Amino acid sequence: MTVEGDIPRLGLTSEEFRQKGKEIIDFIADYYDNLNQVQPLSQVKPNFLYDLLPKEAPEEPESFDQVMADFNSKIMPGITHWQSGNFYGYYPANSTYPGILGEMLSAMATGVGFSWINMPSLTELETITLDWVGKLLGLEQGFLSFKPDGTAGEGGGVIQGTASEAIIVAMLAARNKKVQEYIEEHPNHTEEDLVLFKSKLVAYGSDQTHSSGEKASIVIECNFKGVKTDGSKRLTKESLSKAIEEDKAKGLIPFFVVATFGTTATAAIDDFPGIAEVAEKEELWYHVDGAYAAAALVCPEFRPVIDGYQTADSFNFNPHKWLLTNFDVSALYVKKPSYITSALTIHRDYYRNKATSSGLVRDYKDWQIPLGRRFRALKLWMVLRTFGARGLRNHIRRTVVCPVDFSLLIVQINKQTIADKLGATDIDSEHVHSVFVKANAALHARILEQNTVFITTCDLDGVTSIHIAIGAPLSDEDTMNVLLDTLVSNLELVPADPKVMSA
Ligand code: PLP
Repeated sequence: MTVEGDIPRLGLTSEEFRQKGKEIIDFIADYYDNLNQVQPLSQVKPNFLYDLLPKEAPEEPESFDQVMADFNSKIMPGITHWQSGNFYGYYPANSTYPGILGEMLSAMATGVGFSWINMPSLTELETITLDWVGKLLGLEQGFLSFKPDGTAGEGGGVIQGTASEAIIVAMLAARNKKVQEYIEEHPNHTEEDLVLFKSKLVAYGSDQTHSSGEKASIVIECNFKGVKTDGSKRLTKESLSKAIEEDKAKGLIPFFVVATFGTTATAAIDDFPGIAEVAEKEELWYHVDGAYAAAALVCPEFRPVIDGYQTADSFNFNPHKWLLTNFDVSALYVKKPSYITSALTIHRDYYRNKATSSGLVRDYKDWQIPLGRRFRALKLWMVLRTFGARGLRNHIRRTVVCPVDFSLLIVQINKQTIADKLGATDIDSEHVHSVFVKANAALHARILEQNTVFITTCDLDGVTSIHIAIGAPLSDEDTMNVLLDTLVSNLELVPADPKVMSA
């Protein structure tokens, strides 16, 4: 049905919005109620949607019911069900009802709250909720916006869209600091000197650092070195120091290090005390990437394992991963935000206002790459209030599977079992290893094909290993039993798969 005559200014009349909105809330609640019964991974083929949808946007308005019918029949099949209790891929991306409702209210107030003046609550709620979260995590006081007596501190938090944006901002601040120092120490430098100086800057991470570390170095045009990790996949003081010494001998200039709390592949924890020491000695900007695992710090029992982070310059984690808050909320805390703001503030007449000139407010546009920003603090605030600290701790403790690896399980087939099944006496033989590698990859491929649970992989020293990230609110004993049955029934086939046996 096309709508004749006037199109409502807001697309629907208020009456229609009330009715359709309620229907959509029902639709969402039904979706979540039945989510553990559907196959987690979408089965559509590439470009499936191109054939299903018209080639042009409609000229005439269409009814909302028609749009929803198409959503159901055409869009839904391409949805991968990240919120299913049977989804164990990557790391969790928690969604919750308070988070969804927070998104709705944020959409209600839609604005691009880049300066305090154009949506004061957006800015102030962000500052306050990030302090709440910082305190829940037991963060060092220097990262918070307010001191215990209520006066302004030096540090503070800002919501970035993702951990990838957060590390770009942190690296940019680090480079800004280093360049400022160079300029102060070399008042007679030329433009060429400065270009040469910048080209020598090196950021350090490990061979396990998330790709966002390297990407940040591409964006800010510096060198990135992924230092080899130890047997536990940790960046250590010794290997970092050695890499730095080598680079300094080549005339390069170390300026940044990222230490990861919970690496992407195996949830490893870098040597924080050692890295802190090196960062201090070498005057590096010290960034903590706790994108996934730092959510666990709401439980005090996890805090000792990150000891050594306290002297970091910046600390980042994603409440949108394991802390029940809908994507996109990445919390970045910095001790000296002035290094960010002095790098990113650009004055224009159209930004001028009394509040900004007073110096009493924060304009978060100067703490991030884009100008516009959404009211993301609202969903975080709603999650914090509706779950309470107790609810957050329950969620973490309920989904943790072992004390240090948080909610991540890495599974490999036992090599000895493979050797036994092959009747091989030498477990280290090339043949056994080759079957072992193929059997692990085949195990993952089979489970993916069955689509009862969704799991991803990580590479552990050349072996495709199964990466099972628990942490969805809808995962429970029933879904864990499904996971266990799936693993066990597939393991029984090992290594009978003909593709594996032809190894
Ligand atoms: N850092 C770590 C350790 C991660 O595991 C991930 C993603 O899983 C990221 C950074 C990137 O997160 P985002 O998608 O927020 O950029």
